[in-house]
Parts: sequence; C-alpha cells; structure tokens
Amino acid sequence: MPGKVAYLTFDDGPTAAYTPQVLEILRRHRAEATFFMIGQQATAHPDLVKRVRAEGHAIGNHTWSHPNLATSSAGAVTDELRRANQGIGGRVRCLRPPYGATNGRITSLARGQGLTPVLWNVDSRDWTRPGVATITTNALAAPAGGGAPTILFHDGGGTRTQTVAALPGVLDSLARRGYRFDTLPVCR
Ligand SMILES: [Zn+2]
Repeated sequence: MPGKVAYLTFDDGPTAAYTPQVLEILRRHRAEATFFMIGQQATAHPDLVKRVRAEGHAIGNHTWSHPNLATSSAGAVTDELRRANQGIGGRVRCLRPPYGATNGRITSLARGQGLTPVLWNVDSRDWTRPGVATITTNALAAPAGGGAPTILFHDGGGTRTQTVAALPGVLDSLARRGYRFDTLPVCR
C-alpha cells in the first residue's frame, strides 16, 4: 500500500458533546479513525454509534463501564466485554483495555469473545487537558518503538474542547508529512 498511514483513535465516547464535532473534523479531512466506545455510552447514544459506522470509521470495545481489567476477576472481565459488545452492537473485533491495563489473562479472555486487544504508541495526553499546543505537540511525536503512529485521543470522559480544538491542526500537519488516516486493521 503506498504512502504512510496514521491511525487516530478516540476513547471513552460516544458523547453528544464531542463525538459529532470529531466526526465533522474527520469528514472535512477525509480521515477514517477508530472509536473505542464504552458500552454504557454506546447504549445511551445508538444514533452516534450508527453515524460513526455510516461514516466509515471502525468501532472497538472499551468495556461496559471502564474498570481496570487487570484488577478485575475473570468473570467480571468477561461480563464487561460481553455487555459492551452487546451495547455497541454489530461487528466489534478489537478491545482497548481501559488505562492500557492488560496482561496475558485479559488477552485470552478477550480473544474468547472475538476481540483483539490493541493499545497505542503515541499518547496525546489530551485527558490531562494540557492545552491545545501541548496536545498537538504530543500527538505529532514519533511513535514509541517506531512503526505507524496509533494516536490516543478521547471524545468522552470529561471536557474535550481542547481535543476538538487540536484535531484540525494535527490532521493538517500529519497530512503535510504524507500520512493518510485509516481505521485500525485489527478493528475492521
Ligand atoms: Zn478510556
């Protein structure tokens, strides 16, 4: 495949406040991305789940209620993943464990539900709300360990106005560096 690919990922949504704004920015930049949805949020906003899919993005499981899976029992992990899959509906192929907290046990429980865990190698740290300039700098950093950047953002879990404000500049800068924006292959 020609050219370089960047994978934008958005965790903790969907939310009425921010997901539509993110979708609009992605549309304007002809960018596809991956949304790791919390099952509870997906259940509350089925219209947004539908819209994210309809606009060509991929959807991943971010658990039902965002616990730390590494400190959850096997039964609780299974329940969190199953309920989130049901709440999101349709095809869900990948898992982003909350806080990036994962281990071999979680990976095998996830695979049992047809989910491949996937983390990130660039952290915008937008959840700390450090300001638009810092989010932008963080998002444009070289990926840890090299390879295609998989960049962590959030479209839920708190006020995300800085994320929304930073996103167009991040997309423009990466596009100028020759990147196109696609869904994560393991989530398709
Ligand atoms: Zn999260």
